[in-house]
Amino acid sequence: MLEMQNEDKVYGNIAYACTTLQCERGLGNKTAMRWIDAHGGKTDFTFNDLDRESNRFANALDSLGVTKGDIFFTFLPKTPEQFFAFLGILKAQVICGTLFSNFGEEALLDRLGDSGAAGIVTRKGLFKKIMRIRGKLPKLKYIILIDGDGEPERGVFGYKDLTAAARDEYEVQPTTADTPSVLQYTSGSTGKPKGVLHCHGSLQGQMGTARDVLGLRHDDIYWCTADQGWITGTSYGIIGPWSLGITQIHYGGGFDAQAWVDLLAREHVTVWYSAPTALRMLMRSDETIFTSADLSELRSIHSVGEPLNPEVIAWSRRVMNRDIYDTWFQTETGAIMICNRPGMEIFPGSMGKPATGIEPAIVADDGTILKDGEQGNLCIKIGWPSMFSTYLNNESAYASKFKNGYYYTGDTARRDANGYYWFMGRSDDVINTAGHLISPFEIESALLEIDEIAESGVIGAPDELLYEKVVAFVHLHEGVVPTKDLELKIRLHVSNKASSIATPQEIIFCDGIPKNKSGKIMRRVLRARYSGADIGDTSTLEI
Ligand code: ATP
Ligand code: MG
Repeated sequence: MLEMQNEDKVYGNIAYACTTLQCERGLGNKTAMRWIDAHGGKTDFTFNDLDRESNRFANALDSLGVTKGDIFFTFLPKTPEQFFAFLGILKAQVICGTLFSNFGEEALLDRLGDSGAAGIVTRKGLFKKIMRIRGKLPKLKYIILIDGDGEPERGVFGYKDLTAAARDEYEVQPTTADTPSVLQYTSGSTGKPKGVLHCHGSLQGQMGTARDVLGLRHDDIYWCTADQGWITGTSYGIIGPWSLGITQIHYGGGFDAQAWVDLLAREHVTVWYSAPTALRMLMRSDETIFTSADLSELRSIHSVGEPLNPEVIAWSRRVMNRDIYDTWFQTETGAIMICNRPGMEIFPGSMGKPATGIEPAIVADDGTILKDGEQGNLCIKIGWPSMFSTYLNNESAYASKFKNGYYYTGDTARRDANGYYWFMGRSDDVINTAGHLISPFEIESALLEIDEIAESGVIGAPDELLYEKVVAFVHLHEGVVPTKDLELKIRLHVSNKASSIATPQEIIFCDGIPKNKSGKIMRRVLRARYSGADIGDTSTLEI
């Protein structure tokens, strides 16, 4: 094979591609990020700004003695420094881990300890959490505070001082496709978090899908609501769009239906990437918020992270006169694998078709490749560009995910005769009742259509006769009283909408459905609650 030119290797660096390369393309003065703080204050950063700020951070790391292959985390809510640090870390070929800023001490200790992190960029308000566990983290040498002063003798450094002293030019060293880049711990809804390690070569997958699936064009104003602690926040809130020279909105405020819709309208957002939980919350708010807003420039809405209920698409069609394009991927896949996209016919409830170059298969437990209509393990043929390179310190878990040239995603799905994929559940979530396989998601979607129900979570519970029975946890809207009549209504509706087999044998009214921080229903917790067992690791749980 021909030796790669040095130049190509530099271009292979994710952060170089997102900044310096855009400036070389003549986009230096284009807005890369419009930062909107929680109070609506705006600051624009050009690609030149992004390039210089990340260069400063890379130089600062060099001056501290952080070297290629070390691991450095960001532990911040959305804030401009988070983006500068992320890109600077990657420019220095240091591995960048991102942590959700709501993590508690246990969750932090798991991740910082497992990875042997050398440093962390954070803020004063989060500093206490780190100091309480620092004694258990002998490898953690550098804590950088974006809003505080340094105490170098304690290994604490002020971001402002460090970067003010650093040059704003940085020579990115040749970066090969297999150089480690981003580290993210999966959210742990099925077990202890695993450190998913990606490489700089993943850029190809993220850039390609940002262009071909999200359909990003040079004049777009794009808003991805995901937190940078999750893969969507880095693959599609940083890498994909900026490697295409796209202007991104980043918003530091929390969820608020009116504020979000105002932002979409006022900033002329053209492409919006969000998640079902947020969309369902919007669906529950006052419709006039949408009907009175001018969303004429919003070209497409995309969703990821959990199944997108058909009910939400129906709402979007009715209220916003637009489809929502569901996409499927995982921390491990690094980029979108299966998707709906503009121009494609949408079948609500289906996560769509493979992205370009992706070859999924539905595979039985014995390895047989299944036919259309049959349900089984969702697998992806190995070799896509953004494939993870390992689970950090857990080679055996990594190896166990691959068989016969396929990566086993841990999800179950089926493909219909038109080539569309339908998500059925996690391998361990699918309910087997009287030999029929049932997706809890399908039942939850049906339950959501009932006016009285705010949220639901469905599990299979052991049953002597049926093997498993369907148990529905139901959270009613405020003021609604659970009655026998309501139970009957629920059973009838599910029977009509899903199937008679899917009709819940038991309905448990409760005050809330446990979800992890990325909004996924934690059925593991519901199962434990049902059986009275210990609910295990709940470091990412939010009820
Ligand atoms: P862990 O693997 O530790 O339990 P996690 O799987 O929740 O964590 P992620 O990698 O962020 O962490 O989530 C990927 C999973 O999210 C997928 O495997 C799938 O179960 C679910 N998912 C993502 N997008 C979709 C979608 N469009 N439809 C249905 N499920 C989705
Ligand atoms: Mg997973």
